[in-house]
Amino acid sequence: MSNDKKLINKLSHGDIKLHEIEKYVDSSDKAVEIRRKFIESVSNNQMDHISNYSINMEEASKRNIENPIGAIQIPLGVAGPLDINGEHAQGSFYIPLATSEGALVASVNRGCSIISQSGGATVRIIDDKMTRAPVLKTESVTEALKVKKWIESHFSQLKQAAEVTTRHGKLIKIEPILVVGRYVYPRFVYTTGDSMGMNMVTIATEAAINLLQHKTGAHVVALSGNVCADKKPAAINMIEGRGKTVVAEVIIPEDLVKEKLKTSIEAIKEVNISKNFMGSAIAGSMGFNAHYANMIGAFFLATGQDEAHIVEGSLGITTAENKNGDLYFAVTLPDLPIATFGGGTRLETAKECLEIMNAYGTGNIGKLAEIVGGTVLAGELSLIGALAAGHLARAHKELGRG
Ligand code: NAP
Repeated sequence: MSNDKKLINKLSHGDIKLHEIEKYVDSSDKAVEIRRKFIESVSNNQMDHISNYSINMEEASKRNIENPIGAIQIPLGVAGPLDINGEHAQGSFYIPLATSEGALVASVNRGCSIISQSGGATVRIIDDKMTRAPVLKTESVTEALKVKKWIESHFSQLKQAAEVTTRHGKLIKIEPILVVGRYVYPRFVYTTGDSMGMNMVTIATEAAINLLQHKTGAHVVALSGNVCADKKPAAINMIEGRGKTVVAEVIIPEDLVKEKLKTSIEAIKEVNISKNFMGSAIAGSMGFNAHYANMIGAFFLATGQDEAHIVEGSLGITTAENKNGDLYFAVTLPDLPIATFGGGTRLETAKECLEIMNAYGTGNIGKLAEIVGGTVLAGELSLIGALAAGHLARAHKELGRG
């Protein structure tokens, strides 16, 4: 019996575990193959496509995935060119978007074309931070208040302890420090260079909290107490910001609104107010927008961002106004956790996508944040325009149903 079959048999009988295969073979690709063949046998299914991949599984299985059996494929399209007048992104960009939602790339592409014809998107980064907020337990509210005051008066010591763990992470403040009963929730706020920073700030906060625990006797219940708020839609992220906070705007001449969007400024304003503001308020939604998650999702999947952060990128407010007879249109993204270094950005396909925008690696995070802002602006403009013109159902019928 071949070694592969022996290992598959052992897996079937529970003699070895899925994560132990690497110990018995000489390459990550062989481990992937055996694990996949085992899953094929238990599911009576042949994975001809999942088995086809070109990424370096040796590297990926060290940092990005456990128990790998292959890779999935998501169609990748490109929208653009999109003209951006940012502080960091200046020029014309093609945008990689990975999605299975027909009509999305076409819609973003239409937005890019109208924005570029209008002189481009002006994009600015308003704020930059990554957060981690542990939950600490004390004996009483009196003790909780003492811990809060200790944190406030020992910021430099906590900063020193945190920053020993990282060259790029900088603790800029611990705010707010919330007290609930006898529990304390200090929100540690960092800048994290070109990385998204969640591993970085988790490691740094653990070091600071060890000092805090030692000095105050407060008990650490959990390193994350959900005030962070990581990977959840949260008002604190809307108000305080998380990741990059980005605003992208464009002024579209009235004749282009008529000619390209086939609608009027008044109709766009009415859709924005009745849908994005009033409808979202009725629904209790924190996304005062039409579909930021569509652009964020496709962009994040293409460029190796943490896909769970799409939920944070979905927050934000769209503005549409009549400015001296032209359309002023803007998107505000308070919560954009992104990276050009670290995490999934090193995967070969993600790196290639980032390189389309010349935005891979160090020194490029501001540029990437502004390109994301411009991309969301393009997709939002196109959808609001289509709704105002009554074209939405037709576009989806044609492009989403072949
Ligand atoms: P990371 O890859 O864990 O850390 C970034 C690394 O790159 C650090 O070692 C940093 O060095 C180094 N680095 C080199 N040049 C850099 C530069 N110019 N800017 C910034 N860093 C540079 O990535 P991360 O962003 O901290 O974490 C991202 C990962 O965390 C993702 O895979 C995500 O899925 C995952 N995640 C973790 C948690 C969690 O709670 N732990 C939560 C959500 C997501 P220094 O450390 O010396 O600065």
